[in-house]
Amino acid sequence: MTRPLAIRVHPDPVLRQACGPVTGDVTGLARAMLDAMYAAPGRGLAAPQVGEAIRLFVMDAHWKDGVPDPRVFVNPAIAWTSPDTGVAEEACLSIPDTPRRIRRPVACRLTFDRPGGRAEVTLDGIAARCALHEMDHLDGVLILDHEVPA
Ligand code: ZN
Repeated sequence: MTRPLAIRVHPDPVLRQACGPVTGDVTGLARAMLDAMYAAPGRGLAAPQVGEAIRLFVMDAHWKDGVPDPRVFVNPAIAWTSPDTGVAEEACLSIPDTPRRIRRPVACRLTFDRPGGRAEVTLDGIAARCALHEMDHLDGVLILDHEVPA
């Protein structure tokens, strides 16, 4: 029986660390992070939010709409972002009750580790916004750091 992961809350210093690469097997951690994300409830959760300063995040952009699509990103990198941007309100599980309007690219492409090699995915809409929010976490960046769009 494992205890559910506790979600770290700002200003916990682990949220400000630049995360290092994932080297070992994180299958169990990723599963526990998905459980914590669904329980929160949220659409994304990055490893530093559970106290692990490694380049790993999980997300499920559409489960709240009844279409579960759990995804795990190990050592993700941004390969491309769209020149088009959009503004929407974002919440962060580590900054409770403080939604913030943020401008981000409307689409992005990520590369990440999969068994057997590197994989690539193109995301748009909520999924792109969610992934870019989680990518920020891996560099110690929070929604508080983004300029509020006019
Ligand atoms: Zn967040």
